[in-house]
Amino acid sequence: MSSMVNVIHNKTVLVATQNENKKKEIMDILKNIPGILLRGPEYFPFLPEVEENGKTFQENAIRKAMILAKACNTWAMADDSGLEIDALDGRPGVYSCRYAGPNATDEQNIQKVLSELKWVPKEKRTARFVCTIALASPDQVFFVVEGSCEGFIAEEPRGKQGFGYDPIFYVSQYHQTFAELSSAIKNKISHRADALRQFKEKIIPLTKSI
Ligand code: IMP
Repeated sequence: MSSMVNVIHNKTVLVATQNENKKKEIMDILKNIPGILLRGPEYFPFLPEVEENGKTFQENAIRKAMILAKACNTWAMADDSGLEIDALDGRPGVYSCRYAGPNATDEQNIQKVLSELKWVPKEKRTARFVCTIALASPDQVFFVVEGSCEGFIAEEPRGKQGFGYDPIFYVSQYHQTFAELSSAIKNKISHRADALRQFKEKIIPLTKSI
């Protein structure tokens, strides 16, 4: 009987990411929140493709959460993330995924960044990963949170873990790049972990008030 009551009162939240690593990280950090049932895209067979063509991470995350919440008639959380490099005025930013061109590989994106920073000295290679997450229902955006992780761009790639720009993102505290750190440590200090912690703090009171 009590499990039926739980099912009735649980709020389903679509976790709108196709990236298995991200999905696992999100599920791990957000598991066991009373009143919330997290569901990946596999539970929603008719998900629309949402283009990430906004000028900010926030714009992209909000748009994606709103469109998917409406299309699936449920709550939806959506994120956008990327790398901001100070010496490049914040680039690649929202273009992180396609910095070296529309179908660029991680290696090509990394090489483009390294060539643009070729003459930039170590102390000016400051950068941060940013992750923005929005939560929306079919008729409103509840909130947006932004997490970040500060670091430096290394002079050459190091390490084999992770994805994207991990091999050139150097974290002073550990004297290693993200691609050298274990996933357990990366998932504690990353921009996504920071955003997810804030997300958890905001969604808990929301489930009680709605
Ligand atoms: P999206 O949020 O999945 O659209 O990610 C955009 C791009 O930012 C990715 O394709 C990566 O190039 C970069 N990025 C975001 N998060 C990370 C990370 O944790 N490590 C390395 N690259 C990342």
